[in-house]
Amino acid sequence: MMTNKKEILETIDRIYKQRRYNAELSKERKINELYAKSKEFADICDKIKLAGLRLSKASLMQNKEQIAKYSKIFDTLISKRTKLLIEMGYPSDYLEPDYVCKTCQDTGFVVLDDRVDVCKCRTQLFIELLYEQSKLKEILKDHNFSKLNLNYYSKEVDVKEGLSPYKNMVKIIEKVKEFLENFDKPNQKNLLFYGPTGLGKTFLAHCIAKEVIDKGKTVIFLDSISFFEVLKDKYSKMLRLYEDVSDEEYKSLEEVDLLIIDDLGNEGKNAEFCHGVFQSLLDKRFLSGKKTVITTNYSLDGLVTVYSQFIMGRLQEYFLFLHLFGEDVRVIKAKLQLEKRTSEMS
Ligand SMILES: [Zn+2]
Repeated sequence: MMTNKKEILETIDRIYKQRRYNAELSKERKINELYAKSKEFADICDKIKLAGLRLSKASLMQNKEQIAKYSKIFDTLISKRTKLLIEMGYPSDYLEPDYVCKTCQDTGFVVLDDRVDVCKCRTQLFIELLYEQSKLKEILKDHNFSKLNLNYYSKEVDVKEGLSPYKNMVKIIEKVKEFLENFDKPNQKNLLFYGPTGLGKTFLAHCIAKEVIDKGKTVIFLDSISFFEVLKDKYSKMLRLYEDVSDEEYKSLEEVDLLIIDDLGNEGKNAEFCHGVFQSLLDKRFLSGKKTVITTNYSLDGLVTVYSQFIMGRLQEYFLFLHLFGEDVRVIKAKLQLEKRTSEMS
């Protein structure tokens, strides 16, 4: 579970409150400006204010006759004011509050088919704040293409693979660059890095994240355990038919420009029950042209034992599988350091 979720949601609520306040303030400022400019406008505004007061009084008293009467007066005055606005050379919606998001009027929620849903702007803000508060920002200072060192990959041909780990990495990096160049193309395949630990799969995923963030796009990076926690949560909500409107966390996985799932398979068997949610998320992201990057320590044969043929089918259709092999880079680094020290001593 994203541990800072509560904090993020509190921040979001504060931001929306401030946005609504600013929007109302902008409306008031414009009214005051026109009020000073035109006597006729000022008169209508005064009348609107009075009708508004009478209307709320009638509402308090639950006097239906009076409510109908003053609603009508109120509406007529508003149309009059709009007409006057146009005559004065302003757009008819000039006095609408300046909402950051017109769709939800800065509430963060919209009503769709009689049910309340999270507005896209709120999910977007959630993703941005998640990134701001994650460690990713720090990590990407060291894990990016400028720090990639291919010297750790052997140039000796691997007999089984028919290629050296070095050449293989060069090829993989070409594929990664292609992926980044075509990032906005809807039919571009996603990337799945597989192979044993210590070959730089997560590092490559971080490099991709850095490039995508630098393009001004949003990224969520989750290890597979945290990722499946969100899916489990979504699954139990669906099961209970529990209409939780604040579903930003799952929605963010649907809507983020790049989703990275690190160490797929590590979530274990107890996440199996939400594989259906996983599958539908993969579908939704692929169909809407959103990109996903997966790393896994499993071999292809290993993946088949964890996931159903349906999910394997999706992975094969939506992803380009890139195989990393060779000696653990961390071991090589340690060896090189040892050699360096030995030569320094002699
Ligand atoms: Zn909105």
